[in-house]
Amino acid sequence: MNREQAIKLWKEVRNTTFKMEIITRLKNKPGYGGKRTLERYIQAQEGFEQGLEPSLISMKTGWSPKTVKKLYRWWQEEFVIEPAICSASPEGRTVSELESWGVPRGKAANLFNTWEKYHECGEHDICKAFLILREDIQTRKIPFKQAVMLLFLNVNGIEFHVEEAVELVNEARAYQPWKHAENWRVFREKAKKINLKYEIDVI
Ligand SMILES: [Zn+2]
Repeated sequence: MNREQAIKLWKEVRNTTFKMEIITRLKNKPGYGGKRTLERYIQAQEGFEQGLEPSLISMKTGWSPKTVKKLYRWWQEEFVIEPAICSASPEGRTVSELESWGVPRGKAANLFNTWEKYHECGEHDICKAFLILREDIQTRKIPFKQAVMLLFLNVNGIEFHVEEAVELVNEARAYQPWKHAENWRVFREKAKKINLKYEIDVI
């Protein structure tokens, strides 16, 4: 049985309680290897689902550990949904780490909670915005107040799919409008037009 056939079989088996019918239907079809082979594939899947030791599955099916391993990979790739990977997870980080980035005491806890909330909701695109805060403060030397403003403009832009907000944030990172009164006025006007709430209570 090739990968495609094995997966097709496993899918059928997962959707029915009439395993014997599947075996009867497929046992004489070319490539499926007959009744005993079909039974073994079904046994293997049951073993994978129950999390049995590969050696035990090997014993039950009579397959070599190498074959069991190969089939497990096929099965896993198809049926085990990978947990969402967050490249900017707050897990393992602390409030004091944020303080070490330059986030003032008393502001860090609130900010960290907000980050955790987005992360717990699976909004990992937004998690990245929180990591950028560090670069903004440390590398770009953006004052904290403005850095947080950019953070939330970015967060809300991502959350509500407002492309202009994200663009404005990227622009501002590059030319730092708060350094010049006129640029700052223009920036705030643009931000106001976008009409996203970003001046939140952490500031
Ligand atoms: Zn996340």
